[in-house]
Amino acid sequence: MIRDNRKVVLVGTGMVGMSYAYALLNQSLCDELVLIDIDRRRAEGEAMDLNHGLAFAASTMKIYAGDYTDCENADIVVICAGVAQQPNESRLDLLKRNAAVFESIIAPITRSGFNGIFLVATNPVDILARLTCSLSGFNPRRVIGSGTVLDTARLRYLLGELLEVDPRNVHAYVIGEHGDSEFVPWSRATIATRPLTDICAEPPRGYCTWDSLRALETEVRDAAQVIIRAKRATYYGIGMSLARITKAILGDENSVLTVSAKLFSEYGEHDVFVGVPCVIGRNGVGRIHELDLSEEEFRSFHASCETLRTSYNELRGRA
Ligand code: NAD
Repeated sequence: MIRDNRKVVLVGTGMVGMSYAYALLNQSLCDELVLIDIDRRRAEGEAMDLNHGLAFAASTMKIYAGDYTDCENADIVVICAGVAQQPNESRLDLLKRNAAVFESIIAPITRSGFNGIFLVATNPVDILARLTCSLSGFNPRRVIGSGTVLDTARLRYLLGELLEVDPRNVHAYVIGEHGDSEFVPWSRATIATRPLTDICAEPPRGYCTWDSLRALETEVRDAAQVIIRAKRATYYGIGMSLARITKAILGDENSVLTVSAKLFSEYGEHDVFVGVPCVIGRNGVGRIHELDLSEEEFRSFHASCETLRTSYNELRGRA
């Protein structure tokens, strides 16, 4: 039987990268996984550790520490490499240092002849996805940021708890920047095709009020900080989110996921990578079905896009 070799290269084998790698292995999502890190020994140790779990995996996988030439025939290169914020360091200085990390990574990947899809998780993810697109010269449809996929998963989990319904039957999104200006377009949220606005309006109203929904939105926005205070970093949720995006790409699923994608006048926006529901398949970002937002939601969305454009322009010295 001839089988396509699904190959993923992971750059950055820290907490996020390895949570993703572990999810790939447990879900048998690829056939070959290459680990790259500036700390080569770390990548080698992680490859050994994962290989020792292969005996218990559902299918075999070739896992090894490699270098950028291994990207040549990869389907997806996933970037989780980054530097941590220093005490008293400004947001812009951190962004500049992570941009320098990306410059050192993207150049050798493109030189390898890589012709697949970039998937970026490093923060600030919307800015770094846009930078990846600019540095690589790739068609923007083949550059994806993890966007608000994780935030949307958090929202669906919390709404599922509140309404006592399986999160998979909750159709609600977090859109905009993966960060402070993200928001939930509540007017578009449905449970089993019923608008959430209708559910909240009917008696008994105690459990689903606008106050409870606003509180839940804040909880989603602040979740990363709460987790970081408790255990220093967040990684399992984003690892699973990246695995979900990978599955949609390699399986050519045409699944709708709120990745960070470049807008070409959708929602009246351009020159921005931002989290919106996108159809994701083998060629990356397919069609972007625009949500029918309320006026207030439109204002929030444009404000979020403007924040991202300003940050990107500051980074590129165009402020
Ligand atoms: P980490 O410090 O554990 O790992 C970072 C890794 O990058 C390290 O192994 C480091 O050696 C490597 N690295 C640094 N510079 C490199 C270079 N030039 N080339 C190759 N490798 C290099 O950090 P982490 O907890 O894994 O977080 C990684 C990134 O993911 C951070 O930017 C974090 O903010 C982000 N993150 C994003 C989301 C999301 O929803 N998008 C969620 C959580 C974390």
